[in-house]
Amino acid sequence: MTFRDLNLKKPLWNALDELGYHTPTTIQANGFKVMMSGADTIGIAQTGTGKTLAYLLPCLCMWEFSKDPHPQILIIVPTRELVAQVVREVEKLTTYMNVVVGGVYGGANMNTQAAMVLSGLDVLVGTPGRIFDLASSGSLKLKNIKKVVIDEVDETLSLGFRPQLLNLFEFLPVKRQHMVFSATLSEEVAVFLEDYLIAPIRVEAARAGSPIDKIHQSAYLAPNFLSKVALLRHLLTAFEVDSKILVFVSSRVLADTLFEEINEEFSDSIGVIHSNKAQNFRFDAVQRFQTGETRVLIATDLIARGIDVTDVTHVINFDIPENPENYIHRIGRTGRADKNGIAITFITEKDDSALESIQVLMQQDLVFEKTPKQVAYTTELLEFEKPVVAIPGKSLKLPSRENKGASFHEKKAKNKKVNVRYNHKKAMQEKYGKPKKKRK
Ligand code: AMP
Repeated sequence: MTFRDLNLKKPLWNALDELGYHTPTTIQANGFKVMMSGADTIGIAQTGTGKTLAYLLPCLCMWEFSKDPHPQILIIVPTRELVAQVVREVEKLTTYMNVVVGGVYGGANMNTQAAMVLSGLDVLVGTPGRIFDLASSGSLKLKNIKKVVIDEVDETLSLGFRPQLLNLFEFLPVKRQHMVFSATLSEEVAVFLEDYLIAPIRVEAARAGSPIDKIHQSAYLAPNFLSKVALLRHLLTAFEVDSKILVFVSSRVLADTLFEEINEEFSDSIGVIHSNKAQNFRFDAVQRFQTGETRVLIATDLIARGIDVTDVTHVINFDIPENPENYIHRIGRTGRADKNGIAITFITEKDDSALESIQVLMQQDLVFEKTPKQVAYTTELLEFEKPVVAIPGKSLKLPSRENKGASFHEKKAKNKKVNVRYNHKKAMQEKYGKPKKKRK
C-alpha cells in the first residue's frame, strides 16, 4: 500500500513525495478512513508510530479554505516542544496548500501569541492552559473549530492539565469531531474520554514493542562519574562521524557538568538541554541537534517523552533512569520509523535495583560489554559522589533528579514572593538608628 491508495488531495501527495514518505504506517493506513468518516476516533499509538501524520492527513484533507480568520483545526498537546514539532509537521505537509498554522504555549509572552492568533490562523497547535487563556481573554475565537485533536492525552492528563482541558471544552462548538491519541488506554483516560466522545472508533498502531525489536541494547559497568566520562569519550570517538547521539543524565547539574567536561574536546559539537534552560535555548539546542549542527545532545528526562528528533543513532544512558518506564521512553528516541538503533547504559554498583526493574519491564536482560582496552577508569570521586559522613544536625543535598515530566513553568513574579514577618521595631531602628537612652 502507498499514500496514493489513500484518497488524499494532490497538494498533500506532492508534499509527501517531497518528504520521501511513500508507505503509510499502520495507524495512518487504518485510521484514515475512520477519521475521514467524521467519527470520533481514539488512536492508541506512541510517538514513533507515525501518529502525527495519522491525524494531520485527514484533518488537512477535510480542511476547507475560508476567509474567516478563526481556526478550524485545534491540536492540543502537553508540552511546548511538542507544539513546535507539530507546527513543523503541519508546515511540511502544507507546502502546497494555503494553510496558516500557529503554535501557542505557556511561559512565553501572551501578547505576541495573541497578536499572531488575531492575524488569522487555520490550524492552532497549543498547550491546554495557554489555549484556554487566549480563548478567555477573547483573542482566540474557537467558534469555527471542526476538528479537535488531543495528542498524548495520557501524558496531558498525568501532567495535571485536566481542569484546563475541561474549561477549554466550554469554548468549543458542540458539533465537532474528536481525534484523541494516547500511548495507553488506562482507566483514567477511558473515563475521561467517555464523557466527551460520541461512539468513538478505536484504531491502533502496530504494537510498539519497537525497543525490543529494533534497538540493540547493551550496558557497560563504570564505577563513577569520571570513569563514565572516559568511557563516553571513547565511544563518541569510536562511533561513525555522522552518528547522532542522545546522552541522558539524571540531573540538570550533571548535564551541565558533563557538557563542561567534554564539549571543548569535541569542538563544540555538543549541545545540552534541561528544564533550567530558557525556552529559546531549549528550542535552539533541539534544532541544532536536529539539523546535525551538533552531533551529541546531553539531556535530562525532560525530552525523553514526545520529542521526535529524526535519525538518532545512539541513546546513551550516562545515568540509569530510576523509573523503568523512562528507560523505554529514552531508548525509544532511536530506532524510529523503521530504522534500527543502539542503546547503551552505563551501570554503577548502586544501580542494581534500577537495572533489575528495567529488565523485568522489558522482559529482557541487558548484555554487558567488556570495558574497552583504551579506557582507563579512575577511583577519583567528584564531590557529589563521595560517601556522606553524617554530621548531626547537617543535611547534605545531592543534585536533584529531573523527573518533573515534560512541562516546566516559571513561577509568576507574584508567586515568587516569600512571606517575611514585618518587624516594626527593627524597621524603625534601621530608619532612625538606635533610640538614645535617656540620661538619668
Ligand atoms: P510520530 O509517531 O508522529 O512522532 O512520527 C515519527 C517519525 O516518523 C516522524 O519523524 C515522522 O516524520 C516519520 N514518519 C511518519 N510517517 C511516516 C511514513 N509514512 N513514512 C516514513 N516516515 C514517517
